[in-house]
Amino acid sequence: MKSIRNIGILAHVDAGKTSITENFLFLGGTIRQKGSVDNGSAVTDSLAIEKERGISVRSAANSFDLDGHRVNLIDTPGHTDFYGEVDRVMEVLDGAVLVLSAVEGLQSSVYVLWELLQHYKIPTLIFINKVDRAGSDYEQVLEDIENELDIKHFPLKLPDGEGSHTCTLKDAKKHNAIREKGLEFLAGLDEEFLEKYLDGKSIADEEIEELIIKYTGSADIFPVFCGSAKFEFGLKELLDGVIKFLPIASQNVNGEVSGRIFKIEHDASLGRIAHVRMLSGQLKNRDTVYNQRLKKDEKIAQIRRNLAHKQNDTGEINAGDIGILSGLSEAWPGDIIGNLKLPDDKRSFQIPVLLVKVKAARKEDYQKLADALRELNAEDPLLDFQWFKKEQEFQLKLMGNIQKEILAGILKLRFSLDAKFEAPTVIYKETPIQTATGYVENTMPKPCWAGMRFKVEPLPSGSGLQYESKVSVDKIARKYQNEVSNAIPKALAQGIKGWEVVDLKVTMIDGEDHEIHSRPGDFILATPMGLLRALKEAGTNLLEPVYDFVLVFPEEYLGSITSDLTKMRGTFDTPEFKGGMIKLSGRVPVATSLDYSIRLNSITSGRGQVRFRFGAYQSCTDEQGKTRTYKGVNPLDESLWILHHRGAYKADER
Ligand code: GDP
Ligand code: MG
Repeated sequence: MKSIRNIGILAHVDAGKTSITENFLFLGGTIRQKGSVDNGSAVTDSLAIEKERGISVRSAANSFDLDGHRVNLIDTPGHTDFYGEVDRVMEVLDGAVLVLSAVEGLQSSVYVLWELLQHYKIPTLIFINKVDRAGSDYEQVLEDIENELDIKHFPLKLPDGEGSHTCTLKDAKKHNAIREKGLEFLAGLDEEFLEKYLDGKSIADEEIEELIIKYTGSADIFPVFCGSAKFEFGLKELLDGVIKFLPIASQNVNGEVSGRIFKIEHDASLGRIAHVRMLSGQLKNRDTVYNQRLKKDEKIAQIRRNLAHKQNDTGEINAGDIGILSGLSEAWPGDIIGNLKLPDDKRSFQIPVLLVKVKAARKEDYQKLADALRELNAEDPLLDFQWFKKEQEFQLKLMGNIQKEILAGILKLRFSLDAKFEAPTVIYKETPIQTATGYVENTMPKPCWAGMRFKVEPLPSGSGLQYESKVSVDKIARKYQNEVSNAIPKALAQGIKGWEVVDLKVTMIDGEDHEIHSRPGDFILATPMGLLRALKEAGTNLLEPVYDFVLVFPEEYLGSITSDLTKMRGTFDTPEFKGGMIKLSGRVPVATSLDYSIRLNSITSGRGQVRFRFGAYQSCTDEQGKTRTYKGVNPLDESLWILHHRGAYKADER
């Protein structure tokens, strides 16, 4: 059996990821001719929109063999708007290659990628690309990854100077100095090695290599390679490094079937196709497999493997491998198949903070657009597609503006649809101001019976929703209580200011059912009424998303930047001065900073840099934020709500 490595390749946009992938596929013999990102022929930039715009949007998995080893290489999108995908891919990787540019150095998204790699503890090789270019500075990049990202690096290759077309270790003295740092890092990790190192004894290269393999595997040390994807050097060494240093997937074929779906695509002839990483066991064509989210079996039609321009029918997939399953018509990215319990995978890294309304440019495309958006939502559940039928309105959640443009492009190219996107707005939330109760009695028109009293209490920021029932099952039967507990999150999807209610504890403190007249539906109907009454009594505060930011800019702009930040309702720490530059960290509302990169560029004439990450939800006033009217029938509009629920009033609810 061939050993398998599932490797992700990650980078900031334009660092050279796709070019490297192309070279790997060529070196592995999967493609005979290298494509180029510059003329749109790269294999892994396969979506039409990627070819057109030259940026990778979707993660694409490709396989090749090298010296009897199989490598499944996953190219990931570079733009932060698409890091929801990168996040999902992380969970199926055995190792990664992080590509940095020797010219641009640590670009903003590298910080986010590094955070993800650390979170999932993924063994990683670092490739410093573009050393061929004038202005490249390998040593500066090395220094930055050490100081800014706290990376314990071990350089294995060095370019022969700035803009060099070779990495031959010509300058042995310099190489030794740089290597010394790597040895120090190793000594800090391994006691046995530390002793030898302090004794000053000579240590065999093989022994050092063994240590690097060991501590790369545990994601404690990170070998650094360099080269040029454009002029094609340093790449074979990097690929050999992948085989030598990155861990092999466990290939327990005899275990119980277990796998993780990390990507959904749509194929013109096969329909929905699921990219899966098998963790154990084996699947064959026409097997049925249990989906843990759907809580049901689905039948696999075909199993395939991605090989550059074509997909090969393999008929089976084994533990450790990555492949494509067709026939799973309801699967989503992130789904777990098989019965084995896998570690909980709550993702909190990628939180969409923008909401956008979408409309069909031509009225007759309304239904077609709904179908297309539903399909895109299956590929990226973070979009959280909502359809408000009464308002004839579609809504999506977004990470940023680039995503909006790309989606519009996909709708046009793949679905031949002209869609109009409104300017995105921030997604607000709301939370109760104080403790209050709400009582609901649903006894008319007969026969029906549900009485409940809810208490809502504010909780600290980030707590989400907690629910407890203090009512005994003698007063409200368990089956009704279960319906209430299911109905609560839905009821809180819109509060009294129109946004999701979070950071609260709901307690059912009193209530009763009726032995003869109660039906489950009576409680489902009554729950939102009682909850919204309690919220109205308590009053709610709006919460707005804020970014954590780090700004780096020349000293002379300190005054204009801080006064601008203050106008944006931002807060910041004491500035750090370093070599004529200032580093300033702080927090700023998403709502006031959507176009900040452009503003910063104009303030600093392009000499400032900023990086944002989602920070938290913080309270803001109604004037600073935005309240919305309730979509659909409002449970506080009681007679309408009851009629609506009993089917007498056919309002088109979402
Ligand atoms: P990606 O966005 O990370 O996938 O990067 P691409 O592979 O699409 O490359 C972005 C641009 O940088 C393209 O114009 C490439 O030709 C160029 N490029 C990539 N690698 C190198 C390199 O090593 N040296 C030089 N000079 N240019 C490169
Ligand atoms: Mg690319």
